[in-house]
Amino acid sequence: MKVLEFIQIEKFEDNIEKYGWNENTCECCGKQLKDKSNAVQTIEGPEVIPANITEEQLDEMGLVSQGIFYLGSTCIKKYPKEYRLKFA
Ligand SMILES: [Zn+2]
Repeated sequence: MKVLEFIQIEKFEDNIEKYGWNENTCECCGKQLKDKSNAVQTIEGPEVIPANITEEQLDEMGLVSQGIFYLGSTCIKKYPKEYRLKFA
């Protein structure tokens, strides 16, 4: 399994100061999300893992899930398609 480094842009801290941090914060840029339809699955690091990896598979590999990080529609594009979770 190929893991990717979780990307947080330089402006993240500035945007958190500006908009605050809450459950609608984009974990990449710190801006407020318009909707929560895009996310990536992460493990400790944090690192991003492919969207189709199950909790069970993680267990077998001895890895610990760090949960789902929601991203805005622009920030999600920093990851290849197979790493993107899409919610309706
Ligand atoms: Zn963002």
